[in-house]
Amino acid sequence: MSDLHEQLMAAANARLELARAATPGPWRYNPEKMWNLPGMHFGEEFVGAGPLGNTTCVAGTGMCDDPQSMADAAHIAANDPATVIRHCERDLQVLERHRPAEDEPRLCRWCFGANGEDYFPWPCPEFTDLATAYDITDSAPRVPQPVERGKGSTVLPPG
Ligand SMILES: [Zn+2]
Repeated sequence: MSDLHEQLMAAANARLELARAATPGPWRYNPEKMWNLPGMHFGEEFVGAGPLGNTTCVAGTGMCDDPQSMADAAHIAANDPATVIRHCERDLQVLERHRPAEDEPRLCRWCFGANGEDYFPWPCPEFTDLATAYDITDSAPRVPQPVERGKGSTVLPPG
C-alpha cells in the first residue's frame, strides 16, 4: 500500500469521525431568524439543529444581517454532519477501488486507460483528484499516463 493511499484513508476516516461526533443534523440556517442571548446587544446569525421550537445553536457566525456572517452560516448549514458523512463514505469507497494493484503496485487496480485494455499507473487520476481535495500531495508530482500492464516502469517518474 502506498503512503499516500494510507494518508488519504486516514484523512477521510478522521473527517468522518469528526462528522459523526458533531451534533446530529439536519443543520439549518434561516436568514429570517437571529440568535440572541441575555447580555447580547445584537443578535447573531446562527446555524441551528434539533426540532423547530427547540432549536440548538450549533454555530454562531457573527452579527445578524452582516453579509459575511450570513454566507458563513449558509455554508456551515450546507456542510452539516450528514452531508459530510455521506461525502466521506463515498471517498472511502473510491479509495477502496482505487489503490495500487496487489501484483503490480505501480498500477491502479481499478483504472484502465482510454483504450480499455491498459491500466493507469499509480497514482491514477481518480486518486490524485481526491488527494488534491484533501490537500494531500506527493512531493514528487506525477502525471498519470496509460501504460500496458507490466510495462509501467518505463513511463513512471523516478522516485
Ligand atoms: Zn484508479
